[in-house]
Amino acid sequence: MILDKKHAMQQKLFRQFAETEFTKELQDELDNTGEFNWEMHKKMSKYGFMGVKIPKEYGGAGCDYLTYALLIEEFARQCSVLSIYANTSNSLGGGPLMLAGNEEQKKKYLPQLASGEKIIAFGLTEPGAGSDAGGTCTTAVFDPETEEYVLNGRKCFISAAPMADWTIVFAKTDLKAKGSKGISMFIVDMKLPGVSLGKHEEKMGIHGYPTSDVVLEDVRVGKDCLVGPLHKGFQYAMKTLDGGRLGMAAQAVGVAQSALDEAVKYAKERKQFGRRIADFQGVSFMIAEMAADVEAARQLVYHAAELKDKNMDATAACSIAKYFAAEAANRCAYKAVQIHGGYGYIREYKVERIYRDARICSIYEGTSQVQQMVIAASLLNK
Ligand SMILES: Cc1cc2nc3c(=O)[nH]c(=O)nc-3n(C[C@H](O)[C@H](O)[C@H](O)COP(=O)(O)OP(=O)(O)OC[C@H]3O[C@@H](n4cnc5c(N)ncnc54)[C@H](O)[C@@H]3O)c2cc1C
Repeated sequence: MILDKKHAMQQKLFRQFAETEFTKELQDELDNTGEFNWEMHKKMSKYGFMGVKIPKEYGGAGCDYLTYALLIEEFARQCSVLSIYANTSNSLGGGPLMLAGNEEQKKKYLPQLASGEKIIAFGLTEPGAGSDAGGTCTTAVFDPETEEYVLNGRKCFISAAPMADWTIVFAKTDLKAKGSKGISMFIVDMKLPGVSLGKHEEKMGIHGYPTSDVVLEDVRVGKDCLVGPLHKGFQYAMKTLDGGRLGMAAQAVGVAQSALDEAVKYAKERKQFGRRIADFQGVSFMIAEMAADVEAARQLVYHAAELKDKNMDATAACSIAKYFAAEAANRCAYKAVQIHGGYGYIREYKVERIYRDARICSIYEGTSQVQQMVIAASLLNK
């Protein structure tokens, strides 16, 4: 796909913002401290990035999926973790509200997410329910006396939980239903009695976007916190993940591109045996493989975005894009480190971080094996 004028202009703006604002100092600070940078969150909010995908009537920019993918790709090209800052409200966190929220809920929550005033997390994974998210054990039992749901359970690996004002929680409402049936979606205020965080997770990469457990102990929420139809939450989780996977695939393209950028720069600078290492076929072929991976992944992402923008079935296309781009990001990061030799193993060089940041791409929002399951099912289970 060749970008039209409007999208090419947006791409340029996102690139300029990231190149100017995501300084090396900021990236090092995030990587070294692991702390959320509120200043950057506020700056991104001011520019409207938190609401690119949120409809205009709810305070967002109402952009299409392609624009959203371009935003995440360009941000991740400079800094993987900062691309996630602009992701959650537009994707996994805001997604369930956009897809299934009623008018009152949309009006209440979306404008505050679009403005960046509030942060939302997505709580699907549990200690015993990862790839098999339908195995959710968290329960939401209706108390007819107070007309409230009482939530109990533990969600794990929840991105942004430590900063979040609200979390979308998936809980079993029909305790007799088997498998992924009988699950509902709730929006839970993180300040409610009974909500607590587990320990802060020390991660391999994407430092600066804290992750922790969300523990729910007799947390009472009103019926107005049920998002979408009762017992149908799992279907909406899967629909939300379609869009989420597109964002993650775009993140992986940005990571792969940054690995290629660094490898090209270094291969032209570094001399061995009296020549630039770029002049050795062994090195130049690795760069050619990386370029092919980046471009193929990018085209898959843009194609999946186009399908979603045209309201066509994009489930398999999103999984294909996520699967290929995530694996490509890992291949590119590996080669970029290899091309840097020993220096690639040293923290001072950006590729060391790129290598660690690439690793998550094939794990969260469905591992590569889960994407393969979705792709295969689209071909074989018809
Ligand atoms: C940094 C980080 C942030 C995250 N953020 C969030 C978040 O915000 N919200 C949220 O809900 N979750 C989040 N997650 C959870 C993430 O989505 C899960 O870790 C992921 O889905 C995998 O689940 P698991 O870790 O339980 O692995 P498992 O499901 O136990 O998988 C272990 C291995 O078995 C493989 N496997 C499992 N089942 C099959 C199968 N049927 N066929 C073939 N292979 C299989 C997997 O591919 C994997 O290789 C996050 C995770 C991390 C690490």
